[in-house]
Amino acid sequence: MLDTLRLLIQEVNVARNLKQALEIIVQRIKPILQVDVCSVYLADGKDEYYILMATDGLLPESVGKVRLKKGEGLVGLVARRAESLNIADASTHPSFRFFPESGEEKFHAFLGVPIIHHRTVVGVLVVQSKQLQRFGEDSETLLITMAAQLAGAIAHAAASGGFAGLNDDIEVQEEARILQGQPGAPGIAIGTASVMYPFADIHAIPDRQANDIPAELEVFDSAVQAVKSDIKTLAGRLQDKLSSEEKALFDVYTLMLESDSFAGVTRDRIKAGNWAPGALRETIEEHEQVFHQMEDAYLRERVEDIRDLGRRILMYLQQKENQHRVFPERTILVGEEITAPMLAEVPPEKLVGVISVQGSRTSHVAILARALGVPTVMGAVDLPVGRIDGAEVIADGYSGQVYVSPVEAIRKEYQKLIDEESLFSEELSALKDLPAETQDGEHIPLYVNTGLLSDLTPTQESGAEGVGLYRTEFPFMVRHRFPGEDEQTAIYRQVMEAFAPRPVVLRTLDVGGDKALPYFPINEENPFLGWRGIRITLDHPEIFLVQVRAMMRASVGLDNLNILLPMISDVSELHDALALIHQGYGELLEDGLEVVMPKVGVMIEVPSAVYQAGSLSRRVDFLSIGTNDLTQYLLAVDRNNARVASLYDSLHPAVIRAMLQVVDSARVHGKPVSVCGEMAGDPAAAILLVGMGIHSLSMSVSSLARVKLVIRNITRERAEAILSEVLVMEEVHSIRDYLNDKLEQAGMGGLVRAGK
Ligand code: PEP
Ligand code: MG
Repeated sequence: MLDTLRLLIQEVNVARNLKQALEIIVQRIKPILQVDVCSVYLADGKDEYYILMATDGLLPESVGKVRLKKGEGLVGLVARRAESLNIADASTHPSFRFFPESGEEKFHAFLGVPIIHHRTVVGVLVVQSKQLQRFGEDSETLLITMAAQLAGAIAHAAASGGFAGLNDDIEVQEEARILQGQPGAPGIAIGTASVMYPFADIHAIPDRQANDIPAELEVFDSAVQAVKSDIKTLAGRLQDKLSSEEKALFDVYTLMLESDSFAGVTRDRIKAGNWAPGALRETIEEHEQVFHQMEDAYLRERVEDIRDLGRRILMYLQQKENQHRVFPERTILVGEEITAPMLAEVPPEKLVGVISVQGSRTSHVAILARALGVPTVMGAVDLPVGRIDGAEVIADGYSGQVYVSPVEAIRKEYQKLIDEESLFSEELSALKDLPAETQDGEHIPLYVNTGLLSDLTPTQESGAEGVGLYRTEFPFMVRHRFPGEDEQTAIYRQVMEAFAPRPVVLRTLDVGGDKALPYFPINEENPFLGWRGIRITLDHPEIFLVQVRAMMRASVGLDNLNILLPMISDVSELHDALALIHQGYGELLEDGLEVVMPKVGVMIEVPSAVYQAGSLSRRVDFLSIGTNDLTQYLLAVDRNNARVASLYDSLHPAVIRAMLQVVDSARVHGKPVSVCGEMAGDPAAAILLVGMGIHSLSMSVSSLARVKLVIRNITRERAEAILSEVLVMEEVHSIRDYLNDKLEQAGMGGLVRAGK
């Protein structure tokens, strides 16, 4: 049964549109459950009506005509209660409503289960039979399992616009096509979706309109020829080692490649308008369906051969594509998991937005996008990636909403927002050279977070008073080995020189968790609780020493270096790290270098460090709160998991209280506390940070002006009063709403969109 279910989900996932997806569902479920009717009702865009969208068993002409309000009829009852309903005789139920056009009078037993996606009843799956008896518990649980698994696939298909094309009588609200993701980088982008997909992953290939069909055919034919000749070479290599029967396997591959059912149908698909990789994917998927249904296990496994051939052809096609890929003028990069190198593949002048299905606001690609000022939506889990290449899309990096093929009215509305935005940023840029000072004269230095040399110019010109967090892992990530001491010295020197005499905080290597080095793979079940940050570098003092020596060497004569230690969860780790820093310092002095001992700080980003903030701050010069990880570890919410992203908010009362405790503990020892997580760049949160007495804030360059505006429009006293109001609130949304109100009241409503 599990196999059947898996196959069904797979078929639905690859359906070309909602209509096809729903038809597959009703046609497959009917024989599995041995029922007389299987139907799907879906909610319209406004959740007002549940409409019959597909049926196998009722009269086909009733599709689109049978519509029930929430609570109306049996289907409406299932939707309202969000519970299944299993009855022996539908017509005797008090809620029953008869639709003569459906022809359902001959069916008695009724089983309806809700289809629930993200806590919303998006539809109802119904089976009916002529018998006069309730369905068994097995049937009921199976249908519930199917509905739970199909919910995501249905939402996917509906989001690709299939809903509208299903039946012209059905009025579909535009909201049906809004996809909710998470804000990744602020700003709004309107552009053309350009789908990025991993190399040689057949199922990730999107459909794309072929521009030049004869050229696509030629590319496909030559890829097939290339694979044929590869197979010949491979067979030749094994010539002496194989029996003639085994050798024949290679001939089978060649025959498959030449067959009509493989090359022939793929060519037909190209002729019908799909580009070569998309046509190839369709052929492979078709073979997969056929092979899966085979009784014979040996034959079923032969599907691997087909996939292998597909991957080989695809490699050749992708090589060609990579040489010739032309990005649209206004590219919105879209993918299952957009990575930093993918971002770099698009010419910067063409990249206007990013939408990633995986990840969240604190994923490193989002951090990078913010540094580059590219509006980004993360965690758009329902985005039909395979079906939107070339479509016009809107990415709203403030609210996390995505529109696929928006209607003109929505497009205009967003264009207006973009125009207002650019006016607002002109106003904001006027703040550049003004001090970050509250109205009662308190100076709160604003620093930038960075990690890329290429973005130094905008950061230097941003009016930032220094670098509050330089993530050194970026230069480590783009290499094929650990960078040496000289190499690192040159990188750090460039940053410190660019900002001197302003301070620069260099953080020691913080890999592990979601930041992997290609040449230092770490495979763990639970990487965020595993070997990461200072834990790795203390286990490898040779790496740590090289890095801190490089930092100190780079600071000679500039003396603006601060070293920051990530992921400290225990005082003994700090001891060991300080000992190594002192060792490196001593070695440099012995070498005759005129180094000044840098200031050293600890990141407070795990709960144990919150409770030991006093002990830690006593031993160092400053603390810096990493709210990205602190929020993740305090709330037990993975910072990169789109499914739980709505639970992730640094304005959570527990996070605010933890931060207050850190500030109070450090105050006892007279040590300053800064915030360098993304919370520092959230204008609403900035009010609270001022109220807490945080000494400095470090953020993406794109957030700087907004936060400065808040600081310049508030007094310390007012911020303290707002903080004490917030401290009695128990829920994150009340805190967010309250702070947004305060921003509006102070005439800074334009900043509200920039929050989470
Ligand atoms: C943090 O955790 O808040 C932080 C600034 O570090 P990173 O995002 O690099 O983990
Ligand atoms: Mg961190």
